[in-house]
Amino acid sequence: MDYHASRRERLTRLLVEEGLDAVLAANPVNVTYLTGFSGDTSALVLTRDRAVLVSDPRFTGQIADECPGLETHIRTPAQKPFEAFADVLVKTGARNVGFESAALTVADLETLRELAPALNWKGATDRVERLRAVKDALDVSEIREAIALAEKAFTVFRALLRPDDREIDLYHAMDGYIRRVGGQGSSFPPIIAVGPRSALPHAPPTARTAGSADVLLVDWGACGPRGYKSDLTRVLDTRTTSTFAAKLEEVYAVVLRAQQAAIRAIRPGVTGAAVDTVARSIIADAGHGGHFGHGLGHGIGLQVHEAPALRPNSTHVLQPGMIVTVEPGVYLPEWGGVRIEDDVLVTPDGCEVLTHVPRQVEELRAFPGGR
Ligand code: ZN
Ligand code: ZN
Repeated sequence: MDYHASRRERLTRLLVEEGLDAVLAANPVNVTYLTGFSGDTSALVLTRDRAVLVSDPRFTGQIADECPGLETHIRTPAQKPFEAFADVLVKTGARNVGFESAALTVADLETLRELAPALNWKGATDRVERLRAVKDALDVSEIREAIALAEKAFTVFRALLRPDDREIDLYHAMDGYIRRVGGQGSSFPPIIAVGPRSALPHAPPTARTAGSADVLLVDWGACGPRGYKSDLTRVLDTRTTSTFAAKLEEVYAVVLRAQQAAIRAIRPGVTGAAVDTVARSIIADAGHGGHFGHGLGHGIGLQVHEAPALRPNSTHVLQPGMIVTVEPGVYLPEWGGVRIEDDVLVTPDGCEVLTHVPRQVEELRAFPGGR
């Protein structure tokens, strides 16, 4: 099965519905999705009956490897990328052409309009992104691999974690573990936050040491070999005395309950807002309504944040094949925060949790090798 060809067919159907003759896909992520080509500075010109990858001589060999059989136009060194894109579009005879208004600069669009003044340009922010939101079997297997890589890296992370490790060291170490187990690296800068720092949902790493507080929040993900991303969060119990931090136990139980209830609510036909409400109301009922200041989750794929959104007001309707994170959190200033994040595939009759890192607090003791 040629997944890239069938993705292009789905885009062709959208193009016909919109009354367009062609689409110019220049966002590198969308080009990868539609062709398998992983380089940059290239675009796909898709008409109702042709697909042409417009690239440059640096990538000729890579294109032959990654997308055999695809028609290509290799621009000359004298031609700039958008000059070549306009050139190819004009030669296809298309008149009404869609472009990605979120991916082009104003200067790019001016170049296109100048070089192809007879074309009608129609911008849209989510033509290809809408397709990407519903994963096919190839997307799903790539994301499963990105998750497996993140989970292997986390096993190494936990095994090597020591009380004296600083946030900043752990931040760099995680990226190395992901590469060592076969990933391209972190899918986003990991968040490694000790104690009160974990109350900041996007805490940058500091010199605080892992053993200096009761909790260590780790939000990480792997970028797999073909660019797909995973995204997980766990809070490790790093308490330094034998008296259990009662606050941690209480907050953790609320967040886990909210997360599990939200996951049970995930099925086709439900909106992103409805799933968010399930988790948010449990957290509010526990008295922490003011301590959960972000959306419940987001789609993952070739990008770490993509459609659909699980958040208040999200009108995205879940469909089989969508993969979303479910990541409620409770953040108490001065004390710290708890977030639990898993990746979930929407199936025809419900959902499948793709991530398998333990999520019970008693399974998340740090320093297994002793202090
Ligand atoms: Zn995350
Ligand atoms: Zn996330």
